[in-house]
Amino acid sequence: MPETLETQAQLMQEANRLYGCLRSVSKTKITKWTLEDCLQAAPYTLAINRFKQEKNAVILAHSYTTPDIVYGVADFRGDSYELALKAQQVSADIIIFAGVWFMAETAKIINPSKQVRIPAGKAGCSLADSITGSEVQKIREDHPGVPALCYINSTAEVKAQCDACVTSSNVFDIAQKMPGQELIFVPDMLMAQNLEAELKRRGTPKKIIASGGSCCVHDKYRPEQVEKLRADYPGIRVVAHPECPIEVCSLCDYVGSTKGMASYIASSKDHTFGMLTEFGLVNRMEAEHPDKQFVWPFGICSYMKKNSLINVLEALLDPRADQIVSVDEMVAAAAKKSIERMFELAK
Ligand code: SF4
Repeated sequence: MPETLETQAQLMQEANRLYGCLRSVSKTKITKWTLEDCLQAAPYTLAINRFKQEKNAVILAHSYTTPDIVYGVADFRGDSYELALKAQQVSADIIIFAGVWFMAETAKIINPSKQVRIPAGKAGCSLADSITGSEVQKIREDHPGVPALCYINSTAEVKAQCDACVTSSNVFDIAQKMPGQELIFVPDMLMAQNLEAELKRRGTPKKIIASGGSCCVHDKYRPEQVEKLRADYPGIRVVAHPECPIEVCSLCDYVGSTKGMASYIASSKDHTFGMLTEFGLVNRMEAEHPDKQFVWPFGICSYMKKNSLINVLEALLDPRADQIVSVDEMVAAAAKKSIERMFELAK
């Protein structure tokens, strides 16, 4: 922690500001954020917010990072699609991306003149790390002429091998626009199953050729948990991410992206929601809807939780080599086409 000039009064004021945002937010499954927790975070949030002005930096935080980052220092918060759009528009010199590596890599690809830094260093993702660019190339060689989409949760090398990338917000609409009766979709095999079912439901069926990756958070949910939520909380609305197994999604009231789930909850008149997703989104909903109740069976992304106020400050002031994002130029050029195609198709 660098030398700070904050007085006790400033620290208390900052702790109260944080507590105003976080008082209804769970810190663990059984505890909430306290004023004492906020007082401990305050020297860091004050320092980060001061240094980010001095260094002309912006902080983008994924909703799955911890709430002291999301509400304490982030300039923008959202899911991978919302943050990719923001990254494209950033005019500041430095982007601090509190998320995982593939997200920071995407920000660097679409806004290459900026210095992109990731507090969590080479934080992986079970999906993005499940397949390589050359494995995608092999799938394409085995299925000549079949268009290929990749989920945004993929490495730059994988994006470079595909026609377009998609997010959980736009996967169904973009897949529907692709030509032909077959479609390659990598790396999420569970989202591929949900995609095939949704395209059939829309009357535009396609055979999906998938690879074998999954999200280690969302792939753990089971139908019995939805049944238990409904038995324990009559009238509950259960929401899920399309990275969950299809047998689970088919039992839920709403299935969609992180942004989609947040919008569904914001517009609903219901009071209690079962959250089949990562803890960070539960925390955001608790902060933004203190009048509603959120029940969360489990689900923490250890990769996302590698981001902390301490390493956000480190990335801002004196980044380690593994916190500075770089992408091979040729790979970046091909991956950029795939990302830009998504922006066009998503309009
Ligand atoms: S929640 Fe799943 S998909 Fe998202 S970063 Fe973590 S492992 Fe990857």
